[in-house]
Amino acid sequence: MEILDKIKRCTECIQHLPFAPRPIIQYSSSANVLIIGQAPGIKAHDSAKPWNDASGHRLRSWLQIDEQHFYNPQLLSIVPMGFCYPGKSKSGDLPPRPECAPKWHAELLRGAESKLILLIGKHAQDYYLADNKSLTDRLLNWRDYQPKYLLLPHPSPRNNIWLKKQPWFELEVLPQMQKILREYLT
Ligand code: SF4
Repeated sequence: MEILDKIKRCTECIQHLPFAPRPIIQYSSSANVLIIGQAPGIKAHDSAKPWNDASGHRLRSWLQIDEQHFYNPQLLSIVPMGFCYPGKSKSGDLPPRPECAPKWHAELLRGAESKLILLIGKHAQDYYLADNKSLTDRLLNWRDYQPKYLLLPHPSPRNNIWLKKQPWFELEVLPQMQKILREYLT
């Protein structure tokens, strides 16, 4: 696919990356569900496989989907806010490179009006929703963003404290989201 070839050759923010650009995305224009996350971690970068880490394990468990289906581009496109590993900060990975989504997302999302888009974590939600709300507020009111978006917190173990403080998310909200997701995947 031409767009994927162009992305593979991208060097837009090369001067800010810790390694040579290695875009990690999974994409097919026919997939019914699109996951927009943050940026690949070092394990995803090393293996060239998105969500190939503890965050990915939790995400698949939240979505009730096994690896075989998760890594099927005909079912799911995986398009992070930054396609290349951004490097480390003192408190974890750096945020996704800000050049990436404005450069590539519009073309990748063209024709996605009828698809379900999962916005995972604050970076993706801030960019697409631009409503100046906290992640907790958005998740409490997640139905307001339907039918286009499903919102999830980032499944990173770094968010365990948030998840512990907000038990309603996994107990009440997630089962409703799983039902919606199933409708798009079947
Ligand atoms: S992060 Fe995005 S914009 Fe930067 S080099 Fe990788 S693909 Fe290009």
